[in-house]
Amino acid sequence: MEKYLAELNEAQLAPVLHKEGPLIVIAGAGSGKTRVLTYRIAYLMSKGVDPFNILSLTFTNKAAREMKSRIASIVGNSEAKNLWMGTFHSIFAKILRFEADKLGYPSNFTIYDTQDSQRLISAIIKEMGLDKDVYKYKQVYSRISSYKNSLITVKAYFQNAELQEADAMAKRPRLGEIYQNYVDRCFKAGAMDFDDLLLKTNELLTRFPEVLQKYQNRFRYILVDEYQDTNHSQYLIVKALSDKFQNICVVGDDAQSIYAFRGANINNILNFQRDYDGVEMYRLEQNYRSTKNIVNAANSVIDKNQTKLDKVVWTQNEDGGKIIVNRLLTDGEEGRFVASSIFENKMEHQLQNGDFAILYRTNAQSRAMEDALRKKDIPYRIYGGLSFYQRKEIKDVLAYLRLIVNPKDEEALKRVINYPARGIGATTMDKLSLAANHYKRSIFEVIENIEKIDLKINKGTKNKLTNFSNMIKHFQLIAENKDAFTVAETVAKKTGLLQELKKDGTPEGIARIENIEELLNGMSDFVEGQKELADADGSLTEFLEDVALATDMDKDTGDEDRVALMTIHLAKGLEFPYVYIVGMEEDLFPSGMSMNTRSELEEERRLFYVALTRAEKQAYLTYTQSRYRWGKLIDAEPSRFIEEIDEKFLDLMVPQDDYKYKPLIDSDIFGEVDKSKLRQTKPKRGTPPPAHKPTEEQLRKLRRLRPTDADKPSKSDSPALQLESGQEVEHMRFGKGKILSIEGVGQDKKAEIDFENGGLKKLLLRFAKLKVL
Ligand code: ATP
Ligand code: MG
Repeated sequence: MEKYLAELNEAQLAPVLHKEGPLIVIAGAGSGKTRVLTYRIAYLMSKGVDPFNILSLTFTNKAAREMKSRIASIVGNSEAKNLWMGTFHSIFAKILRFEADKLGYPSNFTIYDTQDSQRLISAIIKEMGLDKDVYKYKQVYSRISSYKNSLITVKAYFQNAELQEADAMAKRPRLGEIYQNYVDRCFKAGAMDFDDLLLKTNELLTRFPEVLQKYQNRFRYILVDEYQDTNHSQYLIVKALSDKFQNICVVGDDAQSIYAFRGANINNILNFQRDYDGVEMYRLEQNYRSTKNIVNAANSVIDKNQTKLDKVVWTQNEDGGKIIVNRLLTDGEEGRFVASSIFENKMEHQLQNGDFAILYRTNAQSRAMEDALRKKDIPYRIYGGLSFYQRKEIKDVLAYLRLIVNPKDEEALKRVINYPARGIGATTMDKLSLAANHYKRSIFEVIENIEKIDLKINKGTKNKLTNFSNMIKHFQLIAENKDAFTVAETVAKKTGLLQELKKDGTPEGIARIENIEELLNGMSDFVEGQKELADADGSLTEFLEDVALATDMDKDTGDEDRVALMTIHLAKGLEFPYVYIVGMEEDLFPSGMSMNTRSELEEERRLFYVALTRAEKQAYLTYTQSRYRWGKLIDAEPSRFIEEIDEKFLDLMVPQDDYKYKPLIDSDIFGEVDKSKLRQTKPKRGTPPPAHKPTEEQLRKLRRLRPTDADKPSKSDSPALQLESGQEVEHMRFGKGKILSIEGVGQDKKAEIDFENGGLKKLLLRFAKLKVL
């Protein structure tokens, strides 16, 4: 047997050696699913399958790179290079470029990122004269995005009375028109948004049977990691491509499905056996990642979910330390605790910064952690915040580059036409936009023909516009012969961007120049790397595609030793020896936004399962007594998830009763008290708290850190208010709203309130903490 196969246990070996036909591996966290997928690819290649015939879809491009390099170490680099491996978006963007003309797109189409899409939607809302407080651009964007991911095209939308009614009910009867305009404008700009990369692929495969056949024949073996988080659109693509040879291998864990809010459909994994004939199902049970304590604690949590497949996860690893739970006064103190603990662990166990991860539910929580790490001089890296490519100065350079490749790209043009300032103002832009809409041409084409169209633009401005378009055309000539780096360097110098920042002279300005330098360095590396590849040459088009689909995670080269900070969503598939899960509080985790239904709560619980199972050696859970939310310091309650862990796996640094989840008054969330949802207060537990003695240092800190006045939670507003309909009120979670009616008396008094953010809610006044505005 080949040597590498000895690195698998028997249960893992079976799916790796599986011959032809569909197979699914369903198994809990850390049991080697990703390893099975990787080794199966190596095995297929060792049996003579051409790497060009293998398509492997991963959750991040970084994961794909890691798998590729493992495979390269087994079968050799030159072969591994030819594998099709990456995220759905990056693989299908590539395919769409080959086939773009069939869909009426240029092959150099731009990929709009979320910000571009939202800007465009916001502009359309404005142009249509709609109320931007009703048509909130972010909400409109996510609505359109979810339509696209369910393959509801504009046409399908207008044929679907139910959807239109739903939008009308949500006071947005003209959503369909916005959708229509948005799609038209993207098309005109030669741009696809993220969702289009999947939607258009589906369109391509359904409308052009010969194209479908071509890719079916090419991808004879298809493998998908994290299958539980595929959405409908992705599901259909995989289904279509694997239809001919049926060599489809998917791995996943229903207990780790955490992207339902973005349209992921857990049924894809649950129905796999129904969708294909003769599916072989494999299960893995042994976890190699974590200690017994962590594995068992995680099992005890996920057990609480009703909707799940039965699975066993066990480990032969050592028992390990119990999960440490600590309560802190504020998020500032929480940060200090985490930073000190990392520091102590590093000293005590001789660890690197990279052995630690801090995971949180929301990005906003990173600030307190950053402050504390900085004070202790512990290097860290935040993943998924504002990524490098989203910084203003970088987006500016990229916008020039995009415009060079695709002059129709309207969002890019609007960004740079007057930056650095060239005296082309908003009025001129409005005129150009109108003309572009009128002639059904791009703004750039209008500028090119500015002399021929009467737009009531004065001579001086016309000259400025012509200079601008000439400059872009000049760059285009360079791009035809030179690589991406050379073009970008010319752009940075010749457009006046660098001069503008130099003039600025502030530390921020200097930091921006450094960022542009970093971008250029990165491009130079990229070009070198591409030149090694058979089918690439380091052109601007290649670079832009790489950037458009890069996630923050992908920039990680792994050679810097830093503590990793990220949301739990991003941590999927990763592992770290020490993991701190912070902000374990009701309303934060589980999120206050996700407790309206059992299925939402179960998704939060799966998220907690994902978080816990990232830890190899030691997990920490922390929560605070009060935390700033919505600009106010509020009382925080420990998360119900702490209590859901069997306490024999916990080591409490807090008085025993303290972490217990006290039944939240459900009326506060659900509007009315639903008795079935009210949890019983458990009788006090018999066992004394485990004897985890806080260190002297911790005790000192706790004594020192008495709350100051500023730290004290504000008094909650008295619930005994005299309220009447018509009044404007504010609720901690739902924001501002207007009382529509009051009913009931005394303890049962309820108000029906229309909240700006939360919609219509009926609240028991006894519990709802309302503030009259
Ligand atoms: P997740 O559900 O979190 O994605 P997974 O099921 O994909 O986890 P892997 O990441 O493949 O699990 O494996 C978890 C860890 O266990 C990795 O560090 C991997 O290298 C290791 N591992 C897996 N199988 C074995 C094995 N047979 N022997 C030794 N180590 C193993
Ligand atoms: Mg995995």
